[in-house]
Amino acid sequence: MWYEVNRWKFIEQAVPRKYKCGYCESIVQSTIGLMKADTLAESPTFHWIFVCPGCERPTYFDSADGQHPAPLPGSSVEHVPDDTAALFEEARRAITVGAHTAAVMICRKILMHVAVEKGADKNKNFVYYVNYLDEKRYITPDSRPWIDMIREVANEATHEILIINSESANMIITFTDMLLRLVYEFPARVRRSSSVA
Ligand SMILES: [Zn+2]
Repeated sequence: MWYEVNRWKFIEQAVPRKYKCGYCESIVQSTIGLMKADTLAESPTFHWIFVCPGCERPTYFDSADGQHPAPLPGSSVEHVPDDTAALFEEARRAITVGAHTAAVMICRKILMHVAVEKGADKNKNFVYYVNYLDEKRYITPDSRPWIDMIREVANEATHEILIINSESANMIITFTDMLLRLVYEFPARVRRSSSVA
């Protein structure tokens, strides 16, 4: 047998595993890692740890092929102020551990913060801030059908004990991602390219 039952074994040339690294967010293919086979159990299980060829950090794949850490939903947005970027990263990370309600609460905070920075009054409710961003055209017409749903989901998250499901949380992450891009990333890119021209 090429492995020892119930012991981690270093594999230098494993069957290549392609995955999105939860640390550096690159899509990678790794062949280096550790494997543990539990063949004594009633249903044998196999566990893997692969090392990312980009950032060299390890990712654990459980016997059901679950990835830990899982890749974050959405993507990093550039030119976002540090505190807002850290909050958005926290919301994305919350989704990967199933903390959907927490992710939505953080996104609410980000949206309120962005609206205040763009001139909205402080200490208003969430709907006021979504309406404000909409009126000031920070929300694209294409995403308008989402807005009512977001108002509903995000409002319920604060005033009632309501568990947010994965679909709603992912929708709000995508919406926040788009908003941060429109408010920070695209204007910075335009400024950069016009200063080069
Ligand atoms: Zn990586």
